[in-house]
Amino acid sequence: MYAEIIAVGSELLLGQIANTNAQFISQQLAELGIDVYRHRVVGDNADRLLQEIQEAEMRSDLVILTGGLGPTKDDLTKETMAAHTNRKLVMHEESLLAISEYFKAANREMTDNNKKQAIVLDNSTVFINRHGMAPGMLLRHNNTVFVLLPGPPREMKPMFQLDAVPELLSIFSDGKPVRSRVLRYFGIGEAELETKIEALIDAQKNPTIAPLASDGEVTLRLSAKHENKETAGSMLDKTEEKINSIVGEFMYGKDDETLLNKAFSLLSSTGKTIASAESLTAGMFSSQIASLPGASAVFKGGIICYTNESKRDLTGVKEETLLKYGAVSEQCAKELAAGVKKSLNSDIGISFTGVAGPDSLENKPAGTICIGIAMDNKPPIAISLSLKGERNYTRIRTVKHGLFQLIR
Ligand code: ATP
Ligand code: MG
Repeated sequence: MYAEIIAVGSELLLGQIANTNAQFISQQLAELGIDVYRHRVVGDNADRLLQEIQEAEMRSDLVILTGGLGPTKDDLTKETMAAHTNRKLVMHEESLLAISEYFKAANREMTDNNKKQAIVLDNSTVFINRHGMAPGMLLRHNNTVFVLLPGPPREMKPMFQLDAVPELLSIFSDGKPVRSRVLRYFGIGEAELETKIEALIDAQKNPTIAPLASDGEVTLRLSAKHENKETAGSMLDKTEEKINSIVGEFMYGKDDETLLNKAFSLLSSTGKTIASAESLTAGMFSSQIASLPGASAVFKGGIICYTNESKRDLTGVKEETLLKYGAVSEQCAKELAAGVKKSLNSDIGISFTGVAGPDSLENKPAGTICIGIAMDNKPPIAISLSLKGERNYTRIRTVKHGLFQLIR
């Protein structure tokens, strides 16, 4: 069985970006034991794309296309596949809903052009885009399986790993059913996790173990192939156990679980309420908690205390703490957490303070973060982190670290 990859986009031909998508997909397919025979790159041109698709179909069992799924005039992949396979383009309601949710979360107006993104090829398996808008698709035509993925790597990678791989495994698994499971890790980098379980990854062929880093988290997809579904399930259990005997302390969930819904369900099930004092994250934590239905039973409210004055006046951080340790300090994080817990009368107070960057602050480098937690009648605790990366990426990951602390 042969596979090939077609990357679509004139910016690839112009040399403005490198074809990292083909590299990633090739690595992933190699791990699945699928041979890749060709990489092709074609510009945003319908005739030349059609020609590539026709040629690829004649020689390959699996053709993976990336790019050109967006809403603009130069995005032609769906239309060209529709012409080639003689399929209609139809509205996919679930994607439309996901896209409108995406706009709601980003607080942006949805245009007709964006609605067009929810149009998919008739008679295809649709992959909802968790990190963007354009859905992906899998379809069969003339004995060839086609997979269409969005161009942006941060959308393409998780979709490939979490949605396309299980489908491909069951299609190309000689009729044997495949069961797979995603293990989710936080607080450990991809390289570190991979190094720690390298021996396992190398030694294991069934189940396979495929790592993926996305949004500051690392996931491992385990896929087991066996005639008997239960046996496949217990093969997954055994592998999971082996992996977690090494890195179990970093695992927070499985499959579709997220840090947010894990933390939220823990609060709901224990009947505890929370309030937040946010400097660095300026409301991002509150906004995430409030995005879940039933938030009012769990979330008391939040204080955005960006300046030192507001930390002092709204949450009661001591002047001498600010003078002696600074706003970005464990001491300040503890006082913020305890202060907001007290003033909003919650069971838990959580606080976020830090240096978003790019410049340093109080002689502390960008990425210095302190998170405080005050719980029940115990003395407040705080942790310090030093994160690398761009300002808003640091803020997003800080919220995740806070959620991770809550479920620990
Ligand atoms: P969008 O909805 O963002 O328009 P799309 O599916 O239409 O997505 P393209 O418009 O082709 O995808 O590409 C969008 C961006 O994704 C590119 O500007 C580039 O940054 C990235 N990208 C596209 N193809 C590749 C590739 N093969 N390798 C790496 N990055 C890519
Ligand atoms: Mg595009």
